[in-house]
Amino acid sequence: MQPEKTKAELYTRYPLSSVLIYNGSTILHFLLGGIGIAFGYGFSSWAGYTFGAVYIVLAFAEMYVLMPLRVCPNCVYYKAQDSLCISGLSIISKRIAQAGDPKDFARRAEGLLCPNNLYMASLIVPIVAIIPALIVNFSIALLGIFVILVGLLLFRFFVIFPKLACLHCAAKFRCPQAGQMGVRNL
Ligand code: SF4
Repeated sequence: MQPEKTKAELYTRYPLSSVLIYNGSTILHFLLGGIGIAFGYGFSSWAGYTFGAVYIVLAFAEMYVLMPLRVCPNCVYYKAQDSLCISGLSIISKRIAQAGDPKDFARRAEGLLCPNNLYMASLIVPIVAIIPALIVNFSIALLGIFVILVGLLLFRFFVIFPKLACLHCAAKFRCPQAGQMGVRNL
């Protein structure tokens, strides 16, 4: 898959190791985020577990249900035969959604509650939520969870996106995120 001039190889199928790193860091982020919220607000008999559980459910739903329904049908990986994108969501999408139009792929970043913003929120919400909990309910374990979450976010922005995912993505010529990161002509 090499539709435009670019130096980096564009993958029709990402290496399994990249797919595992992407999903492993995503799932770890969501689970640790939920545990951190539950732990940080554990001084309340209901708030910690409730907010932690709600966060985990919404984060997984955004990533593994909303994305395959609203974003992936418009992605080139949906139509490409035997394809495997970095998230592996093209496989889920082909089973649960009708094909869309690649011209609409950039709409993933349009509007306040667009999939791109919800995706970012699912990563940032636990980090922001744990800060006040650290002030009122400090513990070394909670601080450790916070540091790991920040590390996972930085790892995503500085390693996964630019080096593993977007650089080799066949959708990078239409994807707003790839444009923001300047990987289109690499
Ligand atoms: S360019 Fe990056 S963010 Fe956009 S679809 Fe590809 S991997 Fe995902």
